[in-house]
Amino acid sequence: MKVSVIGTGYVGLVSGVCFAEKGHDVICVDADKKKIAQIQQGISPIFERGLEPLLRKHIGARLSATSDLRRAVLDTELSLVAVGTPFSANEIDLGFVRDVARQLGEILREKSAYHVVVVKSTVVPGTTEDVVLPILEEASGKRAGVDFGVGMNPEFLTEGEAVGDFMNPDRIVLGGVDSRTIACLEELYAGFDGVEKLKTNSRTAEMIKYASNALLATMISFANEIGNLGAALGGIDVVDVMRGLHLSNYLSFPTPDGSRRMSGIVSFLAAGCGFGGSCLPKDVKALVAHGRKAGQQMHLLDAVIKVNEHQPEKVISLLKKRLPSLHGVPVAVLGLSFRPGTNDMRQSPAIPVLRALGREGAVLKAYDPAAREDARELFREDSVRICETLAETISDAQAIVLVTRWEEFNGVPELLRQREPQPVFVDGRRMLDKSSFARYEGIGL
Ligand code: NAD
Repeated sequence: MKVSVIGTGYVGLVSGVCFAEKGHDVICVDADKKKIAQIQQGISPIFERGLEPLLRKHIGARLSATSDLRRAVLDTELSLVAVGTPFSANEIDLGFVRDVARQLGEILREKSAYHVVVVKSTVVPGTTEDVVLPILEEASGKRAGVDFGVGMNPEFLTEGEAVGDFMNPDRIVLGGVDSRTIACLEELYAGFDGVEKLKTNSRTAEMIKYASNALLATMISFANEIGNLGAALGGIDVVDVMRGLHLSNYLSFPTPDGSRRMSGIVSFLAAGCGFGGSCLPKDVKALVAHGRKAGQQMHLLDAVIKVNEHQPEKVISLLKKRLPSLHGVPVAVLGLSFRPGTNDMRQSPAIPVLRALGREGAVLKAYDPAAREDARELFREDSVRICETLAETISDAQAIVLVTRWEEFNGVPELLRQREPQPVFVDGRRMLDKSSFARYEGIGL
C-alpha cells in the first residue's frame, strides 16, 4: 500500500519505518525541515532502540521523507496523522490536528482518487468525527464516507520499546466512520498476524487509548498512595506490599517450574517518584477536562493526577531527613529521561526534582545514558552540570538521587564501595537493594 505519515515524532517515525519494514511504500512528512533532512540521511532524530538500522535499511527505497505534504498525499492512498496533541490551557490542544486536517482537505479537493485519512494521534473521544471530519469536508468540498474515508487508529507503543511494540503489537484497534475505511485499515495491517484486530467506530477507538493510559496511571498512583501511607505509618516496606499483591492469582500465574509468571501490569504497581512522559500526564488531564466539559466529574482520575504531582516532592523530603540543609551540598541526580530506553524528557519527574534541589541551593550534577544532549538544552538556564559518565557524576556527591530505572545504575553500589564517608542514597524508584548502601532512603519505605 502507498502510505503517507504526517508528523515524524516518536509515533510517526516509528510507524513509517515499521510499515516500510512490513512492505508498504511510505512517505514520511514533517513541517520540521531539519528532521526531514536527518531522516533523508538515515539519521534518526530520536533515540529509540533498533530504529536507526531499520531507517537506514529502507530510506531511499520503500521509505522517503519530505516536507511537501501535497505531493505525499497525491502519491499515496492513505494518510496517517501523527502530530502532537499537547495539553494546554486546561484542555487538549488540537491545533496541530486541525491544521493538518485543513491542509489535507485542501489537497483532497484536487485529488480525484479515493483517499483515507486516519488519525493516529491520541485525541479525546469525538475528535475524529466531530472535529477532523467536518474540517476535511469543508476544506475539500467533498463528503466523508463517499469521496474519502476517515478513520482512527490509536497507537499503543511505549517509548524505549517502540520498534518491538510496533512490530509485535498486543492489539490493533481500527476505528472508522464507514466500512470502506475499515477495509483500508485492514489492508494496512494485513502483515500483522496473530494479533486481535478490534474493529469499532472512531469514538470508541479514541476512548480505548485513553482508558488504557488512564488505567496504567491509576495503577502507579495507587501504588504511590499505598507507599506514602506505609511510610507515614512506619515499619512497612511498599516493595514487599506490592510483591504481596503481584503474587495474587489475579496478577500472576503459577508455572510448571514452580515460579510465577507476572502479568505486565505489575510493573505499573510499583511506588516511585511519579509517572511522566509525553502521554500519561497529558492524556489523563485531557480526559478529566473532557469529562468535565461533558458534565461528568472525573473524581478518580483527578485524584490520580494529584497523587502524581506530589510524588517528586517526596524525594526531596527523604533527602532532607538526612541532610536538613542542602545549601552548597553536592547532589547527583541519576536519570533524566521519563523512563529507561529513551531520551524523551517530556514531563519527566527529573525536572521538578532538579528544580526543587536547585531552589534548596544544592550544587547539582546529573547523568542520563541517553538524554544528556536534551538535558543540556532544557537546563541551559539552571546551574546543573550534565556529566558524561556515571562515575564522574557521583564522584564527589554527598547525596545521590535516583530518578530513572536505567540498568546502568545497578553499578552504583560498586562505584561507591571505597567511598568514605558514604553519600546519602535516595532511591526514587526503589530499584536498588537497600542493604547495599550505608545511608539509604527510598520511596514508600
Ligand atoms: P512528537 O511531538 O514527537 O511529534 C510530532 C511531530 O509532528 C513533530 O515532528 C512535528 O514537527 C510534526 N508536526 C506538527 N505539525 C505538523 C504539520 N502541520 N505538518 C507536518 N508535521 C507536523 O509527538 P509524538 O510523541 O510522536 O506523539 C504524536 C501523537 O501520538 C500524540 O497525540 C501522542 O499523544 C500520541 N502517542 C504518543 C506516544 C509516545 O510514546 N510518544 C505513544 C502513543 C501515542
